[in-house]
Amino acid sequence: MIFEGLSERLQETFKKLRGHGKLTEDDVNEAMRDVRMALLEADVNFKVVKDFVKKVKERAIGQEVLETLTPAQVVIKIVNEELTALMGGTQSKLNISSVPPTIIMMVGLQGAGKTTTAGKLALSLRKQGKHPLLVADDIYRPAAVKQLEVLGKQLDIPVFSMEAGTDAVTIAKESVPYANSHAADVIIIDTAGRLHINEELMQELTSIKSEVKPHEILLVVDAMTGQDAVNVAESFNGSLGLDGIVMTKMDGDARGGAALSVKAVTGCPIKFVGMGEKLEALEPFYPDRMASRILGMGDVLSLIEKAQDVYDIETAQKMEKKLRKDEFTLDDFLDQLQQVRKMGSFEQILGMLPGMGNIKKQLEGVDVDFNGKEIKHIEAIIRSMTPQERADISVINGSRRKRIAAGSGTRVQDVNKIIKQFAEMKKMMKKMKKMQKSPMGLGRFK
Ligand code: GDP
Repeated sequence: MIFEGLSERLQETFKKLRGHGKLTEDDVNEAMRDVRMALLEADVNFKVVKDFVKKVKERAIGQEVLETLTPAQVVIKIVNEELTALMGGTQSKLNISSVPPTIIMMVGLQGAGKTTTAGKLALSLRKQGKHPLLVADDIYRPAAVKQLEVLGKQLDIPVFSMEAGTDAVTIAKESVPYANSHAADVIIIDTAGRLHINEELMQELTSIKSEVKPHEILLVVDAMTGQDAVNVAESFNGSLGLDGIVMTKMDGDARGGAALSVKAVTGCPIKFVGMGEKLEALEPFYPDRMASRILGMGDVLSLIEKAQDVYDIETAQKMEKKLRKDEFTLDDFLDQLQQVRKMGSFEQILGMLPGMGNIKKQLEGVDVDFNGKEIKHIEAIIRSMTPQERADISVINGSRRKRIAAGSGTRVQDVNKIIKQFAEMKKMMKKMKKMQKSPMGLGRFK
């Protein structure tokens, strides 16, 4: 996961500090040397690291931190605040025009995830009650136009394109009256990308900009490309002027330096992050929540929002009733598993919990990671059971297990494992019921 190395290193540094009790100036200096190394190893821009460490050090030594009862805590607090400030302080939102349509121009190099992000953004805006229109303006790659059309169909969002040979500025210009006559209130223009920045590309983008006067120019960059992403952002901002950045592929194992440096280097805030290939995997960027995640303090707010997105109250209440009455079946189990999967990978969910570094270490080697493939297996196994078996696992004897394994293309051990997991889960729920606690929680999937 992104920031994993940085997060581990910082937590180790602070653990050392905590062990000291009262801190001396030397202790702080040593900790700051560790922080500096950790940031550099995470591929944070050299100058950004230098300024950051200087600021933290000044505050840590200057603020009579050394005299407080919990100096390590105060140092962590300062680092948290400075990390948040580094990434822009508060959330930066899209500029939505008071007079529709709002025009958003998506720019970026090929492969950064521009077209996918255009689709994700359209979906996210529609969820907020807007009526987006996607504009296929990457005229040099017919495949790009096709890709956007496929996305539009998949999302049921209209796509505006013009016949081959029409120039990019005309398409962008014509999309505005089209949006007006089709009741679209947000226009998302998917402009052409290139492999590298060149004069021709910038010329075209500048012409589109001056013709349609977008309210928002969003640059899409790939977090995996590290400092290159920061350089690309600097060039685009210099030539075109940017309103915001979308950092994609934050679900990968990028070291995270680009996400930490880009605001400080370019002055442009990250507005969204791409957290996966799925079209739902676009999240607003919250500097404070990201800083908490990096410091292993978790991001419970994002987790709650995700859960709210996935669970509607009615389903949650229905499940709770079933659990209370001990009517929870394997079908419900599967359903729950799929719901939780929608919130992201198990690793992503863990990443949002406080102290996840420790939890993850404890879980290493333990078979808890329900990835997509495993869920498909579980689904196949459960689907191969008769309704009677699904409702009451006690009837599933040896020969039935063999039949289920054959029917689902899995092994008897796999079937045994699922039945055992389910039985354990039910046992745990009974215990929780006794404790008079709500059984709806993630804990049961451990
Ligand atoms: P474009 O050339 O900039 O338009 O890039 P595309 O939208 O075609 O995306 C390039 C590849 O990156 C595709 O395979 C996307 O599925 C993938 N991609 C885009 N955003 C993300 C993301 O946030 N996470 C991951 N893992 N993949 C992404």
